[in-house]
This record gives sequence, C-alpha cells and structure tokens, in this order.
Amino acid sequence: MPFAHLPSLSRRAFTLTLAGAGLSVLRAQTSLEHWALMSDTHIPADPANGHRGFSPTENLSKIVPQIVAAAPEAAIICGDAARLDGQPGDYAVLKKLLSPLMQKTPVAIALGNHDHRKNFLDAFGPSPAGAQSVQNKHVVVLEGKAVRVIVLDSLITPNFTPGLLGRTQREWLARFLASSDDRPTLLFVHHTLDDTDGALLDSPRLLDVLRPHRKVKAIFYGHSHTYRYDMWEHVHLVNLPAIGYNFRDTEPVGWIDARLTPQGGRLTLRALAGNRENDGKTVELNWRP
Ligand SMILES: [Zn+2]
Repeated sequence: MPFAHLPSLSRRAFTLTLAGAGLSVLRAQTSLEHWALMSDTHIPADPANGHRGFSPTENLSKIVPQIVAAAPEAAIICGDAARLDGQPGDYAVLKKLLSPLMQKTPVAIALGNHDHRKNFLDAFGPSPAGAQSVQNKHVVVLEGKAVRVIVLDSLITPNFTPGLLGRTQREWLARFLASSDDRPTLLFVHHTLDDTDGALLDSPRLLDVLRPHRKVKAIFYGHSHTYRYDMWEHVHLVNLPAIGYNFRDTEPVGWIDARLTPQGGRLTLRALAGNRENDGKTVELNWRP
C-alpha cells in the first residue's frame, strides 16, 4: 500500500479515496508542488549488507532527515526499495527508516525488480480504506492541484531484471488517461525505457498508450542508478539517481528536491555520495503545451 500513515494524511488535509478497479487515489487539498523524488534505496534487513563500498542503510538514514527538513508535500521512491529480493526484514527496516518522513508526508513507493509485492504490501498496507493495486499490480495516483502523478508497477518477479507493465495495467492506464482532466500528468515507473533486455519490455506499448495524451509531460524512472535527462516526443524523461549505491563512480548517489507546477519543474540534485560535483544544481523543465 502506498501510504502507510493516514493520520498524517488527515493532518495535512489529504484524503484517500478509491476509484475504479481498487486503485488508490490520493487527492490533495494543497497544490502539491514540492516533492522529494527518490529511487533505488535497496534497503537490506542487515545494515552491514552494502555494495561497492556504499551502505544503503546509512545513505537513507542521512537522506531522510534532509527531506524532513526540506518539508516536501509528498515523496516518491521509484522502485527497488528493497536490497535484492524484497525480504520481509528489508521492508521492516525501510519502514523504520522512513517513519520520520511518513509521519509528515505521504510516501508513494513504486515496485522494482528487487521488490516483492506481497512482502511490500504486508509491511506497508493494506490501507484502512482497503485500497488495493490494479489486478495484482500496485498502482498509485496522486492528484495535486498543480500536477497529477501516476506511479506504475513494472515488477515481474523478485530479482528478475527486466520489467513489464502488462496488458491489464496498460489498458487501465489508457482508460484513466482518457477519462481524467487535462492537468499536467507525470508518470513514475521503475524500469528504464530503452531497448536493452533488462529494461521495461513493453515500453513501446506504453509509449503508444501515452502518445495521444498531451497532458503527459514527463516520465520518471530509476533502475540504471544513473542521473540523466532525455526527451521522447517533447515528453521529459528523467532517470533518477539511486540512493543505495551507484554502478559507476561518475554517478551521484542522492535524491531530487523538485518543485512541480502546471508549467514545469525545477529539479535540484541533493548528492550525498558518489560523484557530488553537481550537488545543488537545478535543472529546469518546461512542460510541452
Ligand atoms: Zn536498483
């Protein structure tokens, strides 16, 4: 379940409602313009379990207070929340590490190839409202006044690298986009959209679904542990940096402090480790008309 903290939601004047096929929709009373964007936290049950000299546990322990201090209105983890295959102990530690943030703001978590859907839902949900994912997928919609965020589920099976949305989720997305209003819409999905064997295998079909909808302004993903900006048909593609560890020394480890408005986004890198040369640098995105 996406939001493990309804008391904080009501304090912040959010309401969790249900729409359609068990989809959980968070409707914000505020503009929802200030977001913390994270990806690939890779939290293990054992804090000593790291990779390439990085400690995911230590990294997230340092980042959560930074985000709490920044006081965003919502936060997202773009998949690979757990270390390798989504053990219950991984999510127990993740929940504990995130709790100072979850007490203040909703945190939507996408599932990646190193997650386990059932173990994740056992740890973080189900919500009091009984919200469930779209037919065995964990899909979240956050409706802000400035933008709409759709968090998709590309997990096939734990610790199997490629991703797939699948036909049911794609058809749901097509219906949702056709029936929702024209506010700028941003997608979050764990897997990259390239044509490698470890990427989102149905990305061409996803793009076919998105093509008629000009309200789709950007797609965010993680997976590659690379911080990078690209474009597809005037839609911004943002590869979020990893929090757990990088794969190359040239990449930062950290999170993105984002201001999202109906016109565009201002994305500032908060680099904690790895390559920190772009720490504090802001990238301005203009949404296509
Ligand atoms: Zn990862």
